[in-house]
Amino acid sequence: DSMQPDATTTAVCGYCSTGCGLRVHMKDGEAVGLTPETKYPVNMGMACPKGWEALRVLESSDRATVPLLRGLDGQTREVSWDRALQFFTSRFKGIQKTHGKDSVAFLSTGQIACEEMAFLGALAKFGMGMLHGDGNTRQCMATAVTAYKESFGFDAPPYTYEDFEASDCLVFVGSNLCVGHPILWERVLRNRNQPQIIVLDPRRTETAMAATQHLQLLPKSDLALLYAITQHIIVAGLVDQQFVAEHTSGYEQLRQHVAAFTPDAVADQTGISAAEIRRAAETIGRAGAASLWWTMGVNQSYEGTRTAQAIINIALLTGNIGRPGTGANSVTGQCNAMGSRLWSNTTNLFGHHRFEDPQHRQKIADCLNIDPQLIPQQNGWSYDRIMEGVRKGEIRGLWVVATNPAHSWIEQGDARELLDRLDFLVVQDMYHSTETARHADLLLPAAGWGEKEGTFINSERRYMLHKRVKKAPGQALADFQIFRAIAHYWGVGEMFSQWTDPQAVFRIMQAASAGTWCDITGIEDFQHIDRQRGIQWPWSADSAADGPPATQRRLFADGHFAHPDGRARLIVDDLTPLPERPDEYFPFFLLTGRGTVSQWHTQTRTSKSPVLRKLYPQQPYVEIHPYDAGRLNIQHGDQVAVASRRGRVTVTAFVTPTVARGQAFMPMHYEVTNQLTLRHFDPYSKQPSYKDCAVSLQPA
Ligand code: SF4
Repeated sequence: DSMQPDATTTAVCGYCSTGCGLRVHMKDGEAVGLTPETKYPVNMGMACPKGWEALRVLESSDRATVPLLRGLDGQTREVSWDRALQFFTSRFKGIQKTHGKDSVAFLSTGQIACEEMAFLGALAKFGMGMLHGDGNTRQCMATAVTAYKESFGFDAPPYTYEDFEASDCLVFVGSNLCVGHPILWERVLRNRNQPQIIVLDPRRTETAMAATQHLQLLPKSDLALLYAITQHIIVAGLVDQQFVAEHTSGYEQLRQHVAAFTPDAVADQTGISAAEIRRAAETIGRAGAASLWWTMGVNQSYEGTRTAQAIINIALLTGNIGRPGTGANSVTGQCNAMGSRLWSNTTNLFGHHRFEDPQHRQKIADCLNIDPQLIPQQNGWSYDRIMEGVRKGEIRGLWVVATNPAHSWIEQGDARELLDRLDFLVVQDMYHSTETARHADLLLPAAGWGEKEGTFINSERRYMLHKRVKKAPGQALADFQIFRAIAHYWGVGEMFSQWTDPQAVFRIMQAASAGTWCDITGIEDFQHIDRQRGIQWPWSADSAADGPPATQRRLFADGHFAHPDGRARLIVDDLTPLPERPDEYFPFFLLTGRGTVSQWHTQTRTSKSPVLRKLYPQQPYVEIHPYDAGRLNIQHGDQVAVASRRGRVTVTAFVTPTVARGQAFMPMHYEVTNQLTLRHFDPYSKQPSYKDCAVSLQPA
């Protein structure tokens, strides 16, 4: 009875980009439990185990509760916030004085609220004079951003979740939605059209097992396969000629480019028979409403941007955009990946404005009430370039906020070595135990989800509210409060005098969004977002004049795209050779990806819940096909050495036919996996290509 709730409030989950609504049950102003929201238009009463366990992971004993500073003896000691922020300021200012302002950079995250991202981006770039900063969204969404911008003219995922239920053909490319986005998969299961489900994946994933057609292609042959599907759509007369003529450009060039990719020509290269390719193309081309969905199998690839655009091309050619059940749809990863795309002030000036454009700089300067001279006139470096900057001695100080590069960055041995080269590394995190925090010279203890308030934007462009339902432990502060305090210590408090709380920053963001494709000037305040159970962008003051926002909205219903001529671009390119082919020394192709629904990224949070830990293997493992296991004399459960040219790790064998012969799969959540991966990137998005490198397998 002592735990009997006396009040209930709502909040949105803070793990993945699905954005499930939760009811949080309170006792004396503190959360004591939660249940999924039955009326939330996203999840309708459902939540995955991570959401159910969201409160538990706040109580872990390795929470960072006081600032920690590393002394000359290499030991960390507790210090006051005052001392920590004095040190933060004097060290970073000292580095900037000696090596130039651009020698200090920041790495941000898709895990904090939009208002916090905006604060960090403005503080670092306009207040502290940094040019370079990027987010961990480079590891997850950069490819989709680049693809959409070039194809549509704006980074605009066009769909709404209702499309999962309204399609009569769903195509999943490099997406194990069933495990990565389990509640969205539930939406697929609610589809009453008996839809065709086509899955392109080298692994027989849970999603592939539920498909009506699984194209189990050879790794990294997706671009060739998508071009062959396109070629057959054209020759079979399944192109929506009117839509293509009225709303796209580049059709003739595309037609010529894909002409060589006949299903027969790519059969060997992709491992898919010509008949299967034709069948998939005709299923898509003949569907009344086809939707195409992609996640990390596409984004985390050295030719990811062109692959995403090949998916977009198919939707455009078949007129599958802007109607219920259609779209070329990137499903984002983190709870606020899209917030980072719009508001982190890294790749773009706020709200997808351009640093290079003087009018854009003037507009943002006016919104923020600052001198436009403070706004850099060029884009900063992407994550990979920042890491190279560390190698070259150009970056000497780094401020890492709520992300874990010592685990998650590609080719981990190299990443850790680079972190250790820094003159000063600041880590701002909920936990003092992350792999990155262990390298920190200064650790700033941060409040987590549930201990502060702000907005997230989910995959379908929905602004949602998360709330403070618990007190942060010890002296941990909301990231928002940390940024405010740093502004003061740095001597730029005046510049941020209006940035008093998240809602005040939201109003600045609204002003910055005016007149753009992501205009949110019609949102009244946080309560409005809460009342409406989330509001999808755009929602301008003009549209608001006609009444409240519909629960589900999609983009491009009028066929008008964001390029100046209003047309979407059909973009094609040559294939890129595999960066590292399996050979006699490293004969296996290593795939990486999500393991189970109960793990999240580097397990910083999920490993803290006993319930979640019961739901996945505690030891890292590698999936091996029974044929290969037999050949190598490896039994299920044996210890196996997995080696690449970068490292050698020992993990447990999981013998299963879900991987094809000659391939191996390791979940990304375990620390060992990125010791093996190969550091290479998509040339346009600069996203790391995590899912292809050559390894050897041996009994350990
Ligand atoms: Fe929903 Fe994702 Fe949270 Fe699970 S992790 S409850 S799917 S938002």
